[in-house]
Amino acid sequence: MKKLTSKRKQIAKIIKKNNAWIGIIFFLFVAFFAVSLWAGLVGAFVYYISESKIMGEYKVISYMAELYEQSGSENPFSGLPDKETRDYIITDSKGNILHQRGEDTRSNISASMEFPGQQSLIKATSDKSTDFLYCDEDGEMQINFQMLYKWFFSDETKESVREENGSRNFYFPIWLEKSIRDGSEIFYGKATVEVRLNDAFFLLLFAAVLFVLILIVLVLILVNIISTAVSQKKMVNVFFLDVVTKGHNWIWFLIHGEQTLLRRKYAKNRYAVLDLVFVRYRNFCVCHSVEEGEKMLCKLNSIVSDSLLKDETMAHYASANFAVMLRYTDEEQLRKRIEEIIKKLEGMDGTHRFAFHVGVVPLGSAVETGRRGKKLLVDLEKEYNNACAARATLSETDESGIAFFDQKLVDEQKWIDTVQECQQAALENEEFVVYYQPKYDPRTDELKGAEALIRWDSPEHGFRSPNEIIPIFEKNGFIVNIDRYMITHVARDQKKWLDAGLKCVPVSVNVSRAHFIDRDLAEQIRDMVDAYGTPHELIEIELTESAFFDDKKAMVTTITKLRDYGFHVSMDDFGSGYSSLNSLKDMPLDVLKLDAGFFSGDLDDERGEIVVSEAIKLAKNLNMETVAEGVEAKEQVEFLARQGCDMIQGYFYARPMPKEEYEKRMAGSDDTETRSSDKDTFEASADTTPDTQEEENPEYNY
Ligand code: C2E
Ligand code: CA
Ligand code: CA
Repeated sequence: MKKLTSKRKQIAKIIKKNNAWIGIIFFLFVAFFAVSLWAGLVGAFVYYISESKIMGEYKVISYMAELYEQSGSENPFSGLPDKETRDYIITDSKGNILHQRGEDTRSNISASMEFPGQQSLIKATSDKSTDFLYCDEDGEMQINFQMLYKWFFSDETKESVREENGSRNFYFPIWLEKSIRDGSEIFYGKATVEVRLNDAFFLLLFAAVLFVLILIVLVLILVNIISTAVSQKKMVNVFFLDVVTKGHNWIWFLIHGEQTLLRRKYAKNRYAVLDLVFVRYRNFCVCHSVEEGEKMLCKLNSIVSDSLLKDETMAHYASANFAVMLRYTDEEQLRKRIEEIIKKLEGMDGTHRFAFHVGVVPLGSAVETGRRGKKLLVDLEKEYNNACAARATLSETDESGIAFFDQKLVDEQKWIDTVQECQQAALENEEFVVYYQPKYDPRTDELKGAEALIRWDSPEHGFRSPNEIIPIFEKNGFIVNIDRYMITHVARDQKKWLDAGLKCVPVSVNVSRAHFIDRDLAEQIRDMVDAYGTPHELIEIELTESAFFDDKKAMVTTITKLRDYGFHVSMDDFGSGYSSLNSLKDMPLDVLKLDAGFFSGDLDDERGEIVVSEAIKLAKNLNMETVAEGVEAKEQVEFLARQGCDMIQGYFYARPMPKEEYEKRMAGSDDTETRSSDKDTFEASADTTPDTQEEENPEYNY
């Protein structure tokens, strides 16, 4: 179970791990890369074209500047071909114009242009008509594409577009400069950069198509990332969804709860783990319907989750169980808070009044318990299990209740496990020992009978009393084997003692309710006793009141059969339950054992005496013998003798003892003196040490 849960937890953690940010980073990276590639490509094209154009122009202007420098004459450009009628301006270093041809259309934007392979920068000044050029921070000439676009469609541009050889060409001017005469003069030549409109158009188209393609790819990637993230979110929701309550499920509780406990900022908060159970939920479903029941669970879930504060959490565990994690300041405050929640839940339906059981494990805070950091993770599953164990202690009641976890619970559970593990081997190895507690006639002090009582003499776990093992065997059904074991051992002992010539008295053996349900119980007992050839009248069968079950008819049949076979049948612990008289009415029994509870209180309790004496009378009228159990005081013995009680089984006479001791009692049972001396010892040595033999053996005290 544990393994399965931790596996699911692992899967859940993987699913929950949000990978969307990886996708977003990937997308940004791809987008950046694609746009850069596009810009680089387009830029390279533009660059290549403009370089080739401007460099051509620059060469002419350089040539003109050189001619001018060499000739120094007024008309230095006579050597130029006629076509070269470009405007120029020559200034001194201060900017005063020395020579000029054409209009001075220089703007105030001057910058440099850098072309690969070119050693020095080309210096340029833009023309007044070309305001799409600007100078950047590094002093380089740049194009403002927005302005270029505007300029392209402006009226002024029309003048720059010329029809040539059937193709529309586009011209824009720029002033290129060249320093001459060792920098004392500057030659500005007006260059005209010519771009064929078709080329520009194709370039633009190419850039646009490329851009659209890139955009499509990017959009596809983005859609993919978003849809993956959405489906992942859906998957996370489904994985952590509780189908009944539509709230969170157990795995979510484990992961979320453990994460909360891990977070450093909550280290000072105290948390408690709760198991909240809707009592008799299945019953409600039987009376109404499963759908109605599930509606109630939904309501419960929403009421509790509405009561939660920040960093508290809850989930539907299974059936009617809910796991809750609350913050608290102290246990009293926690209890009050849970009581408030229970109050809300009890009346959640208006018509019904429900009950809820809550098991609580206060975890304390991480700071208090030194649980900080990943390695000191709280095992929430274990803690919830403990809360369930605490809650299980309330299972006897149908009223609402709260139970805090106690380490004793764990120890008890461990002991139950140990007993269950060892029971079979203990039986096979004969580790169960029969102790005999004699029953005496209070009027004559004569040994009249005994009760066989089990002890577990375990080499590993020590000497154990029946109270530590019988309730466990009764719950797990192993008691049936114990009953058989006891009957066979008692039958064997009785036969041995009989053969040895001892004066045997009937020995009663306890038979559990679980066993009494067997229809052929009487036959089973008969066969077990017959296997040793023990006379049936030496065996008595004790039934506790709780063993009386509903099928009275079957019960009466078994008792009648047992009596027909010659066994005595007694009712144990008479007066300890609620239905004693009722059972007495129906069952044909031989012996009535008055419960030890009658003799454990005040010695001169008048009312108690009346009840006991009336019970003895009642038994007599029903032709039953009476045995008083748990008698420790002399006054009680005298009182019982006066009332005509047939036998006393109590520490006043003897504690349960090993069979060797019991043999001695039998052997000396005719000798009233021996018995009286035991009695004297008991009376003299205070109530706690009634038997000298038991003193020597501490195990006797069981
Ligand atoms: P029980 O059948 O009512 O047995 C009587 C218990 O009262 C015995 O406890 C006995 O030691 C104790 N007792 C007798 N006289 C006195 C007395 O004067 N004062 C006090 N304080 N106690 C006295 P024990 O042996 O510990 O057995 C406890 C219970 O365990 C028994 O109660 C019986 O219910 C169960 N049990 C013991 N052996 C067996 C067995 O072999 N089979 C079954 N099914 N149950 C057994
Ligand atoms: Ca008994
Ligand atoms: Ca009893």
